[in-house]
Amino acid sequence: MSSVFRKCLIAIIGTTGVGKSQLAIELARKLNGEVINADALQVYKGYGIITNKVTDSETTGVPHHLLGFVDPAKEYTVQEFEHDALTKIEEIHGRNRIPILVGGTNYYIQSVMFQKSLIRDPTGSPKNNQQQTPDNDRCFEKTKVGKSNQELWDELRQIDPIMAENWHPNNRRKVLRSLEVFHATGRRHSEWVAESEEARKKEETLRLPTLVFWLYADTNVLDQRLDTRVDDMIKRGMFGELDQLAKDLNDPAALSGQKDDFCVGLKQAIGFREFKAYLSSISDSEISASERERLKIVGIEEMKTSTRRYARRQITWIRNKLLPECRSTAAKMTKAHSFVLDATDLSNWESEVQNRALGIAQSFVGGSELPNPRTTSDVANKLLSEIKETPNSILAWKRHLCSVCSMSIKDSPNGEATEVWLNGDDEYRQHLQSKQHKNNVRYRKRLAQASEHGGTNELSSDISRPAKRLNNGLKDDSS
Ligand SMILES: [Zn+2]
Repeated sequence: MSSVFRKCLIAIIGTTGVGKSQLAIELARKLNGEVINADALQVYKGYGIITNKVTDSETTGVPHHLLGFVDPAKEYTVQEFEHDALTKIEEIHGRNRIPILVGGTNYYIQSVMFQKSLIRDPTGSPKNNQQQTPDNDRCFEKTKVGKSNQELWDELRQIDPIMAENWHPNNRRKVLRSLEVFHATGRRHSEWVAESEEARKKEETLRLPTLVFWLYADTNVLDQRLDTRVDDMIKRGMFGELDQLAKDLNDPAALSGQKDDFCVGLKQAIGFREFKAYLSSISDSEISASERERLKIVGIEEMKTSTRRYARRQITWIRNKLLPECRSTAAKMTKAHSFVLDATDLSNWESEVQNRALGIAQSFVGGSELPNPRTTSDVANKLLSEIKETPNSILAWKRHLCSVCSMSIKDSPNGEATEVWLNGDDEYRQHLQSKQHKNNVRYRKRLAQASEHGGTNELSSDISRPAKRLNNGLKDDSS
């Protein structure tokens, strides 16, 4: 190759089960690349089925890094991952090859792509330095000991109404913190926040020129594919692995006295919790064969539900955090370019995913002009047009009180008054789609119907109001 080698990074993101590992291998073969795993479970040794690790034969000789190398008894943190992945990237660049970062753990990807801001904390210590100043904190806190949460919040609202709007009055720690900033610096906490966000916009935050491929599949199609994958995992021997994991977790020799810390990562593998009852029933002679079979079927359903839910969470993160962060680099020297690849119809894999990715990646690596990401497909246009220009500002956050889920003593099924607060629009939107919220919508409806049949007028008007308000909220959400 005569062209000058460019130090850059390719990242492949997307939900579980969408084909990221396959694409990474295909690109690595064509581009002279090496794969770096960014999946928090796949860093662990063994348990290939429950963690969906690529097999040796699937890697077809492409070097894979940070895959299956951590002892399951050890906890592996995102800080360790960041360090290890950056080391690997440097080594791969040293071999004049392209690092391809791939995995479903989005905060792993983010930790490698973006440099943390070095803006200083208002009270003096650098933000990256996690060490708090407990003595000072306690000193300030002591001066407020007699005050109620509401009193403290009212005090903050007088000094810094913008910041007060961000915190629930019961969030005493946050309210105190904002008061402390004013007390220590004489400036409002909201001013500090606005200033650091402004500085961050100008600062180079991306470590390397980065090309991001978001491998996407339509949710309904993906759901079916994920269901099938669970069935496949069972056929390939998943129960054996789960059984082994449960034994390892109970092995006092492996525990070395740190029960809760052991296997923190692998414990989160989908399937572990879902099949707990079934697996322990196997050695329990009191449980009948038919009951055991029932537990197994329940476990399979739960695992499928959890997998789908996980995929939804991954998409939310990509939409609301990762891609806005990428877009915010648009005006900077070092940019992140994000492209969507449509993996909905697998019979089009070669044209829609493999060849398209390869064409874009070759231009990127060679430093030539890239196509407009929104013109590559209808799906790309739709998904990318919804991405915000910058990540949400902390100051733009609004607290929402859900009028459906908040219950007065009179309405509440358990006779306890509750207030359900959501921090920020994203959390509120997610809440409106949650099981808890939907259950409460149904509960409210039943309550309203019950009161129509013989309830007092006063009661029925009181109940129907929140439901109406919710409908408006949902309409806004679906647009
Ligand atoms: Zn609600």
